[in-house]
Amino acid sequence: MDLGIRGRKGLVCAASKGLGRGCAEALAAEGVELVINARGAEALERTARELSEAYGVTVTPVAADITTAEGRARVLDALGGQADILVTNAGGPPPGMWTDWSRDDFIRAIDGNMLSAIALMQALVPGMMERGWGRVVNITSAAVRSPIPQLGLSNTARNGLTGFVAGMSRQVAEKGVCVNNLLPGIHDTDRATSLDQGVSKAQGISPDEARRRREATIPTRNYGRAEDFGAACAFLCSQQARFIVGQNLVLDGGAMNVTV
Ligand code: NAP
Repeated sequence: MDLGIRGRKGLVCAASKGLGRGCAEALAAEGVELVINARGAEALERTARELSEAYGVTVTPVAADITTAEGRARVLDALGGQADILVTNAGGPPPGMWTDWSRDDFIRAIDGNMLSAIALMQALVPGMMERGWGRVVNITSAAVRSPIPQLGLSNTARNGLTGFVAGMSRQVAEKGVCVNNLLPGIHDTDRATSLDQGVSKAQGISPDEARRRREATIPTRNYGRAEDFGAACAFLCSQQARFIVGQNLVLDGGAMNVTV
């Protein structure tokens, strides 16, 4: 299926690795010209080179922390202040115990996983509305619908973003802008490996055994892949997705045991 977005301009945040990279790759494969971002320059530049060579599109890397105003300004500058497609993403907050989190911990999480995405939408969506076409995909987490207690900082910040998108997406849809969220369950990325290592330490089992036990909780019996995640993202950014607005699509191999 041709997604009808060849030649569009897109920003994918936190995209040198993992789910962000999966989204960038799927959009590059559809002919989208990209700006991609991460903090570390080396992996980011490698990813930009690989995608550009594989798909013949321009991929501009901007090494910056997307959770800071300064980082976002540099990324927006590289875009010339406008994009047709925006994929927001950033690293997740650390796990912990609800009694231990301070006001500063909450502010950091809310800055990183809620306000950064909102600031990028505020910067780019007005231009999309003026031009009559735009797509925004926010990478959140399956924990938005089914909480992971030790990731309370993440649960809190991401649900704030979800509430914002629920209202705002309905305010911009008439101008051809579709804003949606993708909710990953467990995917095979560095983040999943580090969570497995945490479980391994806490339970005194090997990382392989920690992974095997987590895989057993998923109906597909394996972790998701960044390329599958990217394909779903590219579809939400497609011409064909024009009637999908304000939705929260869970990609978790069926792990969340709910009816709707
Ligand atoms: P990952 O494999 O660890 O990759 C994270 C990517 O984001 C890297 O490219 C990293 O590069 C970049 N990054 C991190 N913090 C950044 C920042 N402040 N500014 C710019 N770039 C940043 O993680 P992932 O698994 O793809 O996860 C992506 C998001 O989905 C996270 O928020 C995670 O919590 C969430 N999530 C993941 C899963 C899963 O199973 N993988 C499940 C639910 C939710 P640098 O380190 O060089 O900046």
